[in-house]
Amino acid sequence: MDDLETAGSWLARSRATVVLTGAGISTESGIPDFRGPQGVWTKDPGAERMATLQAYLADPELRRRSWLNRLSSPAWTAEPNPAHRALVDLDPVALVTQNVDGLHQRAGSDPARVFELHGTMHRTICWECHDRRPMAEAVTRVRAGADDPPCLRCGGVLKSDTILFGQDLDPEVLRRATEAAQGADVFVALGTSLAVYPAAGLVPIAKRGGARLVIANAQPTPYDDVADVVFRDPLGQIVPALVASYRECRPSR
Ligand code: ZN
Repeated sequence: MDDLETAGSWLARSRATVVLTGAGISTESGIPDFRGPQGVWTKDPGAERMATLQAYLADPELRRRSWLNRLSSPAWTAEPNPAHRALVDLDPVALVTQNVDGLHQRAGSDPARVFELHGTMHRTICWECHDRRPMAEAVTRVRAGADDPPCLRCGGVLKSDTILFGQDLDPEVLRRATEAAQGADVFVALGTSLAVYPAAGLVPIAKRGGARLVIANAQPTPYDDVADVVFRDPLGQIVPALVASYRECRPSR
């Protein structure tokens, strides 16, 4: 058996498949990653500062630039690609993602099983009163001339409901993702460099729980040597192929 068949047969027998996805799954949808060769932060180190909580809260000029950048973000019009769509058929017990683009839900994955570790760009949150609203509202206000729109309820600093550097993850989302990793039969890491914690920490947790580990990423990851199978192919090809292999191996019902 080749690696695809082997991984497909594990997935077919698995009672609890957990998938972790990173920026690499969305690059084929036209959303640039951060740390890759063409990454946002690789090409413009200043952009990384914009993703730091302390700087964002302290610097109105930086916030104005963030809102302007947001208006032109390719992520608003991005469509799910074949990798996102294939995962709908795999139907994992948990689809944990480091992405904030909402493309798994757009593709049709069950929102109740998608765990957005780093939040979502489709909502805003007020840093003072934690009021959450659709991002579209704030974008409309920016287009109408508010260059740093404050919270409509309390006047506090408004930010995208995503996790910036220096900001803790939502403990409930992290707890549920960790629990899923602990109980996984097969853990599949897709398009993530596995360099950012606590997301990457789900891999050793799943391994300790006895999961088979499948990694697909263009570049090497720190966990390749403990993986059972590693793929380097573009995700838009390998994920549909993996799910097709899973379907073939599944006992007919
Ligand atoms: Zn507020």
